[in-house]
Amino acid sequence: MTSIPDIRLNNGQAIPQFGFGVFQIEPKDTAAAVSTALEAGYRHIDTAEMYGNEAEVGEAIARSGLDRGEVFVTSKLSNDAHEPDDARQAFEGTLKALGTEYVDLFLIHWPLPTRYGGDYVQTWRTLEEFYREGRARSVGVSNFQPHHLRRLHGETEIIPAVNQIETHPYLTQDEVRAFCAEHQIAVEGWSPLGKGGVLADPTIQSIAARAGKTPAQVVLRWHIQRGDIVFPKSVTPDRIRENIDIFDFELPATDVEDITLLNKNERTGPDPDKFAGR
Ligand code: NAD
Repeated sequence: MTSIPDIRLNNGQAIPQFGFGVFQIEPKDTAAAVSTALEAGYRHIDTAEMYGNEAEVGEAIARSGLDRGEVFVTSKLSNDAHEPDDARQAFEGTLKALGTEYVDLFLIHWPLPTRYGGDYVQTWRTLEEFYREGRARSVGVSNFQPHHLRRLHGETEIIPAVNQIETHPYLTQDEVRAFCAEHQIAVEGWSPLGKGGVLADPTIQSIAARAGKTPAQVVLRWHIQRGDIVFPKSVTPDRIRENIDIFDFELPATDVEDITLLNKNERTGPDPDKFAGR
């Protein structure tokens, strides 16, 4: 079976560098997709309260026969639950839906600087509680810009273990990645395939033809070689298996560079400085 490298987070916890994302998978299709992923060797699932499919993720893990400790599970706080008491209640809901006593990683999904009086610091302090209680083995953030991270750094105790940001060949996120590297915050890349939008790029297509791999495999391999953690989404069994089949080849440094040069600072999702979460 495929051997997926681990990344060591700043608190010593190991996270598989490659996993499976379940955003926009209908609840009715989620258990089957996660089961296919687990059978193919995935051991890291990325969900969120707002995806509405935590229960089905939990169901597939329970059904798999794997020990809970063998699967790394991430979930995220709803944008509607940033007030501390709401966050506590939402976190209970996440654990209950997943049918687990702990998550491996729990994230603030968006900083929402235009809501809650811009106070994502109090929300972060609530996640610190979950970490101290051991009910979140690691805590982190998502969609945080360097200035948001700097503020947490100055006003709170625990440095986020990860920052999950949109990144793909058309959005290389050099500034956020450099800040994270300097502060021992691991980068997780969401929409690693640009939601499929980068796969027709001629540079990626020609690198794929030369490597004897598919465009999706080349792009995912590029992320792995840059050191980011990624979890592409698919409901198609063949693609789920194709996406994990990237640990038997290496892109030459020149290919990595050519793909990085495709950057257009082009987001598929919202701007974190403006997004109000609904
Ligand atoms: P993605 O870049 O993983 O693209 C998924 C799409 O790419 C699929 O729907 C399919 O159309 C296509 N695709 C997948 N495999 C393919 C293949 N082998 N060949 C051809 N096409 C293929 O996009 P995503 O789902 O948005 O992102 C992945 C995960 O990141 C999500 O499931 C979720 O877990 C996470 N995410 C997080 C946030 C956040 O705000 N933190 C936002 C979006 C996504």
